[in-house]
Amino acid sequence: MLIDSHCHLDFPDFRDDQAEVMARAHEAGVGQMITIATKFDTLAAALGISDRYDRVYAAFGIHPHEAASTTDLSDAALTDKIMAAARHPKLVGIGETGLDYHYMHSPKDAQIRSFRAHIGVARAMQLPLIIHTREAEDDTMDILRNEMLRGYFPALIHCFSGSVGFGQAMLDLGLYLSFSGIVTFKKAESVRHMAATAPVDRILSETDSPFLAPVPHRGKRNEPAFVAQVVAELAALRGVHQSDLAGHIAANFARLFNKIPARLGKAAP
Ligand SMILES: [Zn+2]
Ligand SMILES: [Zn+2]
Repeated sequence: MLIDSHCHLDFPDFRDDQAEVMARAHEAGVGQMITIATKFDTLAAALGISDRYDRVYAAFGIHPHEAASTTDLSDAALTDKIMAAARHPKLVGIGETGLDYHYMHSPKDAQIRSFRAHIGVARAMQLPLIIHTREAEDDTMDILRNEMLRGYFPALIHCFSGSVGFGQAMLDLGLYLSFSGIVTFKKAESVRHMAATAPVDRILSETDSPFLAPVPHRGKRNEPAFVAQVVAELAALRGVHQSDLAGHIAANFARLFNKIPARLGKAAP
């Protein structure tokens, strides 16, 4: 069973052929996926998809790009709204949240405040925190180290694209690293190095679709079925069989996202 731990099925890119996309995911062996809602406006759409498809779960967080939209809410109100979302039975993770200093669509202070609010919810509810971080390694590390000291919360770095030092620091903090199609890009040396060397019980697979299609689909719309290329590349880099690695990733996913009920045998259609 393959796992797509991070996709955006509510995006307009999938409006016209959602059923076909889901059928191709099934065909490719994708047993479970998490569709990520990135703002309050799209939460209902993501939950609707998770209600419609048995194998799809949802996560919710204010994307760092959208953090400025939360500045009219008090810290308590922001926390309450995220918690309310997380009580839905198919909402299994908090995020994506984090820091994106590449685009800087929201000011730094708004991003940091929102990140900390999401961490508080993940800690209180013991739901995994899904972290997006880009060109913000030092602040991400400082905040996570500091917040972990205040109380443990499960967490992953989604679409790992950082330096080897950052990846190692995240592993040392107990986080998981989720790899996307970037791992198939030959120039992504630090990502490929971490993919090859991270402990087998700490890695996850994702597409981040509709973005970042892996080779040989690079440049096209991405979709959950293409997580097969991500896992194939991870297995090749690690010198192991794809099916063995897929088994580890499924076990890691079940351990981290433990709100997802355990399945016996084959996933239901
Ligand atoms: Zn992201
Ligand atoms: Zn995303």
